[in-house]
Amino acid sequence: MSRRRWRLCRRRQRLVVRRAAVPPEAGRSRFGMERTELNKIARHLLETGRVEVVVGYRRGTEPLTATPAFVRDPEQAATLIFDATCGTNLATYLPRLKGRKVAVVVKGCDERSVIGLLQEQQAQREDLVLLGAPCPGVLDRKRLLQATGGQSPVDGRIDAEELVLRLPGAELRLRLAEVMDVGCRVCAWRNPRLADYLIGDPVPTEERPDFDPEVAELEQATAETRWERFRQEMSKCILCFACRNLCPACYCTECFADSSNPKWVGHTDDPADAMLFHLIRWTHLAGRCTGCGACVRGCPMGVNLRLYNDKLRKEVKTAFQFEAGVDPAAKPPLVAALTDGEDFELLFTVAARDAVPLVDGWKKTFPE
Ligand code: SF4
Ligand code: SF4
Ligand code: SF4
Repeated sequence: MSRRRWRLCRRRQRLVVRRAAVPPEAGRSRFGMERTELNKIARHLLETGRVEVVVGYRRGTEPLTATPAFVRDPEQAATLIFDATCGTNLATYLPRLKGRKVAVVVKGCDERSVIGLLQEQQAQREDLVLLGAPCPGVLDRKRLLQATGGQSPVDGRIDAEELVLRLPGAELRLRLAEVMDVGCRVCAWRNPRLADYLIGDPVPTEERPDFDPEVAELEQATAETRWERFRQEMSKCILCFACRNLCPACYCTECFADSSNPKWVGHTDDPADAMLFHLIRWTHLAGRCTGCGACVRGCPMGVNLRLYNDKLRKEVKTAFQFEAGVDPAAKPPLVAALTDGEDFELLFTVAARDAVPLVDGWKKTFPE
């Protein structure tokens, strides 16, 4: 089939098809996009055999939720949606689909994870079709439910800078900033750069601080205060491992946290287990975490993982002038470290640097 470019406008969101020729269709709104050009593209890719599966989102069972969808049947392509409820980072599924022809919907932050996976050879670019979704931000369901006092909305829509929710017997208007993912408010990666198909017009981006402003505050604090802060965060953790399961960088076939021989981490309510799990995991994520926020959104207990993820990313940037998922041509520190003993030592030191005062605190809290 010959290739051509076409563009269709409707309201704010438009679909720009860059490569394949597919017939134009109606546009979308931020909520309730049930039949759109995304569906047409997905159908086209499946019907022509370009891909075996399209990894995207479909409407969740709860109102204002979306859930990952694996569409293999062209007839099911119509179930795909993209809107502000689509927070899951779908790059997480790519290592499990390695060697298969896959189309995947990626936001700007998700695309950074794809770059990381390509660098770590967990996916091959020629096997992937990236359906890039310019993203004005996604909702944080925990913040939304906090704002409604725990009541699940029946429906919702975005009206300018407000989220209008229909609750049982009432309407509630919330400022979008109140219910958006905290990271989305200052995201500099809203527009995917490597997409084969771009869904919608690029959205405006802002200058953002590289890292959570709380990191600088944390760095000013004394070791005792940092330890106490860490202890408080970790005491919320119930070791459900959702953060690991949702993370595109956590694709090990056997995670240390699941190993019973040796038993690295206990699965008890002892806070030391949660601390050890996170400290070891952060060591594994040094130079690999892109700051996508999927773990933060997925944590049912509201643990502030972003603070420590960003601290780690900042240390790596300072020591190696490297940010994960930004430059596809760059050599990640871990790849360099595996062939260079000195670099490995430095990477490990960077990952552990912030942990040292924590471990001091640990000894005081949990003496032998
Ligand atoms: S925590 Fe470490 S071992 Fe576990 S999946 Fe992530 S990278 Fe692999
Ligand atoms: S640790 Fe969290 S923020 Fe970092 S890559 Fe994994 S899911 Fe994304
Ligand atoms: S998702 Fe939250 S509660 Fe679950 S293991 Fe991770 S930090 Fe702990």
